[in-house]
Amino acid sequence: MDASSPPDRRTLVATIRDYVEQLREEGMEGLPASTAARSSPGASAPVAGAALESSKTGASPMAVELFSKYPGLEKTSTLDQLREFIGDCQRCKLAPRRTNLVFGVGNPDAELMFVGEAPGADEDARGEPFVGRAGQLLTDIIERGMGIRRADVYICNVIKCRPPDNRNPEPDEVAACEPFLFRQIDLVRPRAIVGLGTFAVQAVLKVKIPISKLRGNWQDFRGIRFMPTFHPAYLLRTPGDKRLVWADIQEVMRFLGMPIPRRGGSAS
Ligand code: URA
Repeated sequence: MDASSPPDRRTLVATIRDYVEQLREEGMEGLPASTAARSSPGASAPVAGAALESSKTGASPMAVELFSKYPGLEKTSTLDQLREFIGDCQRCKLAPRRTNLVFGVGNPDAELMFVGEAPGADEDARGEPFVGRAGQLLTDIIERGMGIRRADVYICNVIKCRPPDNRNPEPDEVAACEPFLFRQIDLVRPRAIVGLGTFAVQAVLKVKIPISKLRGNWQDFRGIRFMPTFHPAYLLRTPGDKRLVWADIQEVMRFLGMPIPRRGGSAS
């Protein structure tokens, strides 16, 4: 790059991120989500999320996870490179029983990212997140509710391989896989993330607060707006709470400056 030309977006983001991480390592206890976060109505103070977690360890979760756990991960600069880095992953005990590793789908430059828990049977079979019944509901929320295409957002999970019998992922599995999620977030750099369900929200924010308390309240994940909401699988069992999820999604749409369809929330 010639010294007089402006840096490209990724370089600028990487530079700012490094600066923020340096501040955190120097003891700064978290940053406001953004200027918009402070001024937009309904924004609530983040709970003890990832930014605050860094103050306990003396390094951000990114620095700890990326630079010590999987050296070289920080050098991946596209999602394709990240997928290649993960390869035929054998880093945790879920590997031997998976059919497909479920990396993520969607727009690599998406403004909005959805993060779920882990693949189920349908996802394991197809290698794509959220393609079963819960996935269909998520797709309806995106396409019928928000009025955009599923391909316009980015969708992935905390855990990339199916836990047997759909059990909850275990801490060692989360520890092995979450650096890849963090790198995915880093590469997509969305303006907002929707965390789907207790597990995904608690795994990303590093809190033990119930989803019923967190949902609908903006949180901060390393400077990115993070909206916790219920998991679509929960909505299949508790359809009465769809209106709460729709309220959370509308909040996200307002933040992103998206028009809210008059008959939005019709996803059924
Ligand atoms: N549930 C999830 O959390 N993720 C999927 O991909 C499918 C179901």
